[in-house]
Amino acid sequence: MSGFFDTPIEFLKGVGPQRAALFNKQLNIFTFGDLIQHYPFRYEDRTRFYTISELLEEMPFVQVRGKVSKKELIGSGFKKRLVAYLIDGTGEMELVWFQGIKWVLEKVKPGVEYVVFGKPTKFGKRFNIAHPELETLTPKNEKGGFLQPVYSITETLRKRHLDSKAIAKLQQELLTQANNKFHETLPSAILERFRFVDKRKAMINIHFPENHESLNAAQQRLKFEELFYIQLRLIKLKLVRKEKYKGQSFNDTALLTRFYHDFLPFQLTGAQKKVIKEIYADMKSGRQMNRLLQGDVGSGKTIVSFVCMLITLSGNAQCTLMAPTEILAQQHFKTISRYAEQMQITTALLTGSVKKRERGDIHRGLRDGSLKILIGTHALIEEEVQFNNLGLAIIDEQHRFGVAQRSKLWSKNKTVYPHVLVMTATPIPRTLAMTLYGDLDVSVIDELPAGRKPIKTIHKYDSHRLEVNGFLKQQIKTGRQVYIVYPLIDESEKLDLKHLMDGYESICRAFPEEAVSIVHGKMKPDAKEYEMNRFAKGETSIMVATTVIEVGVDVPNASVMVIENAERFGLSQLHQLRGRVGRGAEQSYCILMTNYKLSSDSKKRIETMVRTNNGFEIAETDLQLRGPGDLMGTQQSGALDLLIADLGKDTKILQTARETALQILEEDPDLNKAENKLIREQVERMRKTMVNWSRIS
Ligand code: ADP
Ligand code: MG
Repeated sequence: MSGFFDTPIEFLKGVGPQRAALFNKQLNIFTFGDLIQHYPFRYEDRTRFYTISELLEEMPFVQVRGKVSKKELIGSGFKKRLVAYLIDGTGEMELVWFQGIKWVLEKVKPGVEYVVFGKPTKFGKRFNIAHPELETLTPKNEKGGFLQPVYSITETLRKRHLDSKAIAKLQQELLTQANNKFHETLPSAILERFRFVDKRKAMINIHFPENHESLNAAQQRLKFEELFYIQLRLIKLKLVRKEKYKGQSFNDTALLTRFYHDFLPFQLTGAQKKVIKEIYADMKSGRQMNRLLQGDVGSGKTIVSFVCMLITLSGNAQCTLMAPTEILAQQHFKTISRYAEQMQITTALLTGSVKKRERGDIHRGLRDGSLKILIGTHALIEEEVQFNNLGLAIIDEQHRFGVAQRSKLWSKNKTVYPHVLVMTATPIPRTLAMTLYGDLDVSVIDELPAGRKPIKTIHKYDSHRLEVNGFLKQQIKTGRQVYIVYPLIDESEKLDLKHLMDGYESICRAFPEEAVSIVHGKMKPDAKEYEMNRFAKGETSIMVATTVIEVGVDVPNASVMVIENAERFGLSQLHQLRGRVGRGAEQSYCILMTNYKLSSDSKKRIETMVRTNNGFEIAETDLQLRGPGDLMGTQQSGALDLLIADLGKDTKILQTARETALQILEEDPDLNKAENKLIREQVERMRKTMVNWSRIS
């Protein structure tokens, strides 16, 4: 059964087979429904006229009405332009054309009144608009009073005369035909509760709003609707999984208690205790855990992961922890095996560089169950790695792993899926987490261990290098160590390496008494490790590095992080780097070096870093600056192809949509109630028609 909105776009008056082919190919528009959901991405404000005396340079587009007093041709050849002078009783401005001069010369007549639209720029004292839109004043356009929709198009479409204006015309035609064909997609209870406009009104006003209020009302409703149905789907997925997927029930805390009693090296923070409780509740529930553990750098996720392992081991099952890099895996192994040894628990490290014989031992130990904890890189998802009974799979820094790799871990237990804990140190803004991981439960460690002094972040220009070096010398004298990080600039490995080596040499010159380490991506793993270890043991006081030290490295005595060309780093990365210091009891510093010329985005990033240490705040700003598509790991996610909502900005609407969806599904999981009929129908419809819909999950 197909309805009006399934009609192929070809059959809309004004389209036909050729334009239809263009629509298909260029904009992915195949049906009436697709076109009507090709919403404007901005609107030109034609609601009012400005007088020439009111114009300001920062105005994006303005509408002015006035008479042309005279016109003249200025310059010749290449630089020839036509200038018409517009007067409206409050002042005079210039309208300028560089192209199509002949046509304009004929069309524009002195003494006639025009409606002019365009971007005003100031030249000397006078405003001008280059290539304005120009219409003779008519009774119809003299009132102004509307917002002109602007649709995204492609270069090809423009060339084939399917520009924004043409699309607006087609939308007008479509809306006229669709007038009584809209079906409401939100139940009346929701419409009333949030005072939303109905579907028909929203669809008309999103394309042709009369004023800002009606546009806003339409946007609110359509954004809510979009986010609501995504959340509904994700929450549903989560509920189904909870019902369907059994997990081993681990409810013995004997090992945990012993560890707390005899070996716990410090008091756990309140936040650590809270997330351990949440995780334990999952692990004893008898259902499979799928939980995301978020915690800023240094918040103490490692010990939490070890505690979860103990709960698993008490239940006679095995654990594995997968990290994205060899260095990080080693670091985890070092910490965790130290805890484990005290309690006579067997651990092993499996990475690409583990020798064949040792591998064999590991495989055997895993199969017969004598090896309890396996830590490693993606080497541990290989087919030959078989567990006797895998009870818990922990994945650190999940951004770097694909979904496919994650699911391979699932299948390491053929009888019952292991519990899965995904840990991330990259704070994900709530809005994104809700959309990307809306099907996972989320725990957050939102507190740092006591006694940590907040890192002081300082912005310095390159010209203050001597002063900065003086500060570093003084810090080193008191026994501290220093990181100096260089960005990848040229995207040519050779040049980047040269950049780093130049930096290294100038540092050796500036600090002749100090031993300096250097680490970069081109080094062999054992050379890298050797240098890291020298620094960790305090044999060198300065570590010059590229971003390879971004994750994991833990040297509590290193208390200063200098980031060179800080303007070239993204916010999340700056924050990750800064997280390498501030791990000991001493006051730590992060010094951001930049040159004088900063773009406004760079400025905002640097300011944010100086202002706050809060990873979530930083992630939010990052999301606003870059948009979700650029955030790590989200690129391939269909969940982010939204038609109208904006995850960076529509936080509140998303929150409301999620809460509403949750409430409805809690009361009526299968959407059987009469009042939810509309929702059920819409879910069905979307399942059938929307490409995006099937990609979410
Ligand atoms: P991350 O969350 O970045 O992985 P880690 O687990 O590496 O953090 O912990 C950072 C440092 O803080 C480690 O040196 C760890 O021993 C220490 N730490 C963790 N929890 C606490 C705590 N509750 N009290 C004091 N120090 C802690
Ligand atoms: Mg960590």
